[in-house]
Amino acid sequence: MEKLRRLFRGRIVLPDGVIEEGHVLCVGDRIASVGTGRGSAEADEIVEWAEGYVAPGYVDIHVHGGSGADFMDGSESALTTVCQAHLRHGTTSLLATTCVAWKEQILTVLRLCQDYKNCPEKTGLRLLGVHFYGPYFAAEARGCHPAKPLRPPLADAYADYLAFADIIVTASVAPELPGAEDFARACVQRGIRLNIGHSQATAEQVAAAIRWGARHVDHLFCAMSDKTKLRRLQPWPMRGGVLEAALLYDELTTEVIADGVHLSADLLLLAWKCKGIHRLALVTDCNRALDMPDGKYVFGPLDGGEPFFVQGGVALTTDGQGLASSVRGMDWMVRTFQRLTGRPVWEVIRMATLTPAQIIGHAYDLGSLEAGKLADIVLLDDKLHLQQVYVGGKLAWSAAATALRPPTR
Ligand SMILES: [Zn+2]
Repeated sequence: MEKLRRLFRGRIVLPDGVIEEGHVLCVGDRIASVGTGRGSAEADEIVEWAEGYVAPGYVDIHVHGGSGADFMDGSESALTTVCQAHLRHGTTSLLATTCVAWKEQILTVLRLCQDYKNCPEKTGLRLLGVHFYGPYFAAEARGCHPAKPLRPPLADAYADYLAFADIIVTASVAPELPGAEDFARACVQRGIRLNIGHSQATAEQVAAAIRWGARHVDHLFCAMSDKTKLRRLQPWPMRGGVLEAALLYDELTTEVIADGVHLSADLLLLAWKCKGIHRLALVTDCNRALDMPDGKYVFGPLDGGEPFFVQGGVALTTDGQGLASSVRGMDWMVRTFQRLTGRPVWEVIRMATLTPAQIIGHAYDLGSLEAGKLADIVLLDDKLHLQQVYVGGKLAWSAAATALRPPTR
């Protein structure tokens, strides 16, 4: 069968700028060429996108749920519900992110994701693998994760998880926990990328983790070393924690939750200034309440997860004192980061596409509009609202064709 040739014309978003009048030619599921001008008219279909932007599909390396479902529910229907929810917000590739839970619950999700890896025909988008996230977190920095299943990494327990090394893309650990070094080295040995997260480590402990192979820090500013506590343990000299180390060390990439609730504009700009667009990714860290009404929900598995509630687009722990991850998709994060920081559109989109793809080792195939890469494309209006999503060259979602239009703001 002849492969469909589809030509997009309009303002093309590249990782280092915008082509004001350009084109992207896709043949089958791949991008064949990108350039200035209108391109050859010898295409089966021409999409004239006069207003707005033609951009790469978003890549989310930290996402828990959406549309009422959480990956930790552990069922096929929950998994596809979450994927389809995020597709409607422009995400074309993601890592299913687990949470602090009991071993059997985590193993169920790992098994399930094996069957759904890279099957856009089943999930709508590309599930690239798993972000193994918890139970190896520091109790004081657990955030909205349940407390009971927290534990230090012990070799006989994590061996069962690491048996799924082919599906685990990244794994997070608090480096101050006993056994963290062995866990870290075991991950790196199996080709799993190591993140530092939910940790009260000192900057020295983070430096040690870099030597073990850690290369990324989860949600900068959130659930990390608290100055008062570090000072109580050692009054002087004042020491840095995970935050300072993440900003200092070039070996570390990091991510921000730019929903406008977690971080103020100055913190987003601080992260951008210190890490730059090559080392800073946008993530959603979205829970199951995406596109759901205000009310009570559970973070993680319905059986044993942590209750939270949503009020006016903010997810809070039951005492109302802490944030319980976000309820927004990547389209919202892109718009909010751009609005709060005033950075150019191409920079912000790069942080939601090529940079996260590079962080997880998928930039060879994903994350930018480049000849040879997969034709995962979003069409945005001039306010960065999502209009259409293409996965592998096929139209996967269209704002015009659905009543489930994402909230516009
Ligand atoms: Zn977290």
